[in-house]
Amino acid sequence: MSEQFERLSRLPLRDDLRGKHPYGAPQLDVPILLNVNENTYGVPDDVRQAIVEAVSREVVGLNRYPDREFTELRTNLARYLGHGLTPENLWAANGSNEVLQHLLQAFGGPGRSAIGFPPTYSMYPLLASSTGTRYIAGRGNEKFDLNAEDAAREVRQSGANLVFLCSPNNPSGSALGLDVVEAVYEASEDAQAIVIVDEAYAEFAHSGTVSALSLLAGRERLVVSRTMSKAFAMAGTRLGYLASAPEVADALRLVRLPYHLSAITQAAANAALTHSDLLLANVENIKVQRDRIVAGLLQLGLTPVPSDANFVLFGGLDDPHRIWQGLLDGGVLIRDVGIPGHLRVTAGTETETTVFLETLGALLERAVS
Ligand SMILES: *Cc1c(COP(=O)(O)O)cnc(C)c1O
Repeated sequence: MSEQFERLSRLPLRDDLRGKHPYGAPQLDVPILLNVNENTYGVPDDVRQAIVEAVSREVVGLNRYPDREFTELRTNLARYLGHGLTPENLWAANGSNEVLQHLLQAFGGPGRSAIGFPPTYSMYPLLASSTGTRYIAGRGNEKFDLNAEDAAREVRQSGANLVFLCSPNNPSGSALGLDVVEAVYEASEDAQAIVIVDEAYAEFAHSGTVSALSLLAGRERLVVSRTMSKAFAMAGTRLGYLASAPEVADALRLVRLPYHLSAITQAAANAALTHSDLLLANVENIKVQRDRIVAGLLQLGLTPVPSDANFVLFGGLDDPHRIWQGLLDGGVLIRDVGIPGHLRVTAGTETETTVFLETLGALLERAVS
């Protein structure tokens, strides 16, 4: 690794990239993968068949570039989201990571800044730095309870050009009240900031949680981003999207690469969206396991954070690394997100959840005896 690092440092790399490490959650060959919040259910057979047929229809035309405007996909996404949205309100890219990168390319860049509220999604600072945007780490979410007043004050004081709100928040799992989004939007009036609500886990929220999609009308600087990587069980497809005023999508057309969504990606995503009811059928099962994990961790004497997502962050661990390694040795990979005394686990199937809770229970008992 150090030799590789040395060779890298001999290259005429951009100064601001020197010494940086790439994003890298471990990809290990383990039976139970609960570390990157994927949907652990496979793609249902009917949907699999529809995707194969749709992709196969595209193959004969692969000598041509795909629809640069991905019109059918934007139509399907608008229909899925509802809220009176039309295809003009939609944008998509290869994962919501690329959607966020497009936003930073268009509205951030050298001399500009973006603010987020850690602990939050680890990609915000990385995407900011790769686009030359200064990243500001806001306070106020250290106890996973960002409120409207604190968020608005910090956004106003920062003068940031972009604001990242993550709801439900990764890694804590908590959803924000819409009062936070409204207050932040008002507070960013002077700087005319783009306010991004990252709703990657929206489908897993407890009933009664209202999406920021309901705030879009009349707020031309508000953006709600979503993904097919989690609830839709399609992380391998790489399809993320956003809803916004049409002019925001037009701004992103200035920075996207031509034909950035391949014909194969578009075909697979369209086929999946026409079967969204089947793909989303497991969301309720996952929510049951999520709530079971919270209850099970409490029983073990740990301190889970209430979650509206498909994962649970939990504290109360004296030696999180020992627990993480012990679980891994037992065939269960979870995530150390770097918060002292805490680990994060994805809610999987009933069987996966059982193995996780039992293995964890045994490890904690060993520590006591
Ligand atoms: C998983 C995740 C995403 C989704 O990333 P994709 O590029 O769409 O796979 C976005 N935001 C957050 C907070 C996430 O946890």
